[in-house]
Amino acid sequence: GVLVKGENVSKVYKMGEVDIYALSSVSFEIYDSELLVILGPSGSGKSTLLNIVGGMDTLTSGELYYREKALHKGGRRLLTEYRRDAVGFVFQFYNLMPNLTAIENVDLAREISQSPLNAEQMLDSVGLLARKDHFPAQLSGGEQQRVAIARALAKNPEILLCDEPTGALDSTSSREVLKILRKFSTEFKKTVIIITHEASIANMADRVMYIRDGKIEKIVKNENPIGAD
Ligand code: ADP
Ligand code: ADP
Repeated sequence: GVLVKGENVSKVYKMGEVDIYALSSVSFEIYDSELLVILGPSGSGKSTLLNIVGGMDTLTSGELYYREKALHKGGRRLLTEYRRDAVGFVFQFYNLMPNLTAIENVDLAREISQSPLNAEQMLDSVGLLARKDHFPAQLSGGEQQRVAIARALAKNPEILLCDEPTGALDSTSSREVLKILRKFSTEFKKTVIIITHEASIANMADRVMYIRDGKIEKIVKNENPIGAD
């Protein structure tokens, strides 16, 4: 089914007298348990689109639906509720709490959202149970990102939004992180969206959305995404 739907979504930034169209009347559907990669050059509108889909930002015009709920009509409260209950975020620079261990980082997120999931199981599912008592500074970049993924999933969101999740990683760690994101989408039926400017990430996606100058150029379906079996 359709999880999130956008109709003629525009986002305009006012720079003095000039209107900057970060998104220019884009329409899209995001499906249940798909892995969608949004690919485009720097400044094309990827972050803006991700922020809107994640309820972190409002639209200038257009319509946005989460299932049957009209988020564009709901105001701040509905948007906050949607973001809190349905959306998990993974950022380029992990953003872990430096004074908490891996397990404490995951468990704090779980506790805040009163989720029934188990922090140790979450760490286990990203292959890091053995490192649970390490602090972020004692972990590699790839390991920190895996903790960040476990933390994002600890609240059991329907949709996981990833902003350049491998942007700061070497190629080996990148592959490891992407494998985990692919696994969560396939095995646990999560919708995962990854924004990136790295074309090589596209072959693991169920669909690839190409974005340029605030417009969706095309959406391509992958018949055999790598790692999905
Ligand atoms: P990407 O994620 O693809 O790099 P962004 O969504 O960050 O692209 O930006 C799209 C366009 O919107 C760019 O031209 C950017 O400079 C502009 N933009 C993004 N955020 C703001 C903002 N807060 N104020 C003004 N312009 C912005
Ligand atoms: P990314 O590579 O993820 O797009 P950016 O460095 O382009 O990151 O943007 C980081 C943040 O700064 C974004 O969340 C965006 O809202 C904001 N931003 C981007 N461009 C501008 C701009 N021209 N003016 C003000 N804020 C901006």
